[in-house]
Amino acid sequence: MTTRARAYDATVGAREQLSPHLVRLTLDGLDGFTSTGVPDEWVGLVVPGQFQSRYYTVRAWEERSLVLDVVVHDVGLVTEWASRDCAGDTVVVTEPKGSFMLPPDAGWLLLVGDLTAMPAMARIVETHPDLPTRVWAEVPDDLDGYLASTADVTWLEPPGVASSRLAEVVEGIEWPEGEGYFWMAGESSQMRAIRKHLMRERRLAPAAYDVMGYWRGGAERQPRAVDPGPIWRAGKAAGKTGD
Ligand SMILES: Cc1cc2nc3c(=O)[nH]c(=O)nc-3n(C[C@H](O)[C@H](O)[C@H](O)COP(=O)(O)OP(=O)(O)OC[C@H]3O[C@@H](n4cnc5c(N)ncnc54)[C@H](O)[C@@H]3O)c2cc1C
Repeated sequence: MTTRARAYDATVGAREQLSPHLVRLTLDGLDGFTSTGVPDEWVGLVVPGQFQSRYYTVRAWEERSLVLDVVVHDVGLVTEWASRDCAGDTVVVTEPKGSFMLPPDAGWLLLVGDLTAMPAMARIVETHPDLPTRVWAEVPDDLDGYLASTADVTWLEPPGVASSRLAEVVEGIEWPEGEGYFWMAGESSQMRAIRKHLMRERRLAPAAYDVMGYWRGGAERQPRAVDPGPIWRAGKAAGKTGD
């Protein structure tokens, strides 16, 4: 038995600029891929010339096509690739995993997130149109219409590049009566503060919330992470010397 996640080759069938910082990629030809059905499910994405993956939410899935909405920020492996015309490129996608687990007695949903959380929040809202849902979205672009109209959305402007006020926003929320579910994703250090608040001040049971660190701010730029093996082999096959 192997513990390695299954991987699928796919081709970028379309690239669409949804807003200045959000690019929609449609990946085609995923033979054998099956969605978990969990609305915040994500896959690992490996772009050409790289061997490290980055995680992206499955915004939509139909037959053999997968839709990912990718945030393009300052620098990053996927950001730089997705900022260019990448249609026709071949990528690798790993098996999906999900985390959102709505308790059966939940009478409402609260969703909070930054731009990276928008694909998951959009899919969660679409999946639960009958559940009263409030969303706080901290995004730098105008994404009016991105979330289904069944949600009551508060749009917040980020205080600066790669900074967030979501921890303060959560501390100020007026919580609905009764049982519900709180889902949130964004920059990891903010998420740590929020988990503490939910556990210590709000005393929520672990099953009543899900708070995910989606990216790490302030971290040094990741190394280019180019796997030299395939490049060396391709060069050798083309008759180049080791130099
Ligand atoms: C479960 C899960 C689901 C996710 N779903 C999505 C999704 O649907 N769409 C999406 O765009 N992202 C999503 N993310 C976040 C995404 O994986 C990270 O933002 C990732 O680091 C982006 O890779 P990169 O190659 O562009 O940058 P990296 O090479 O990883 O990072 C380079 C630098 O950019 C900074 N950085 C990384 N992300 C951001 C950001 N968003 N804003 C500002 N600075 C940043 C880092 O601090 C680092 O210094 C998800 C993450 C997880 C864990």
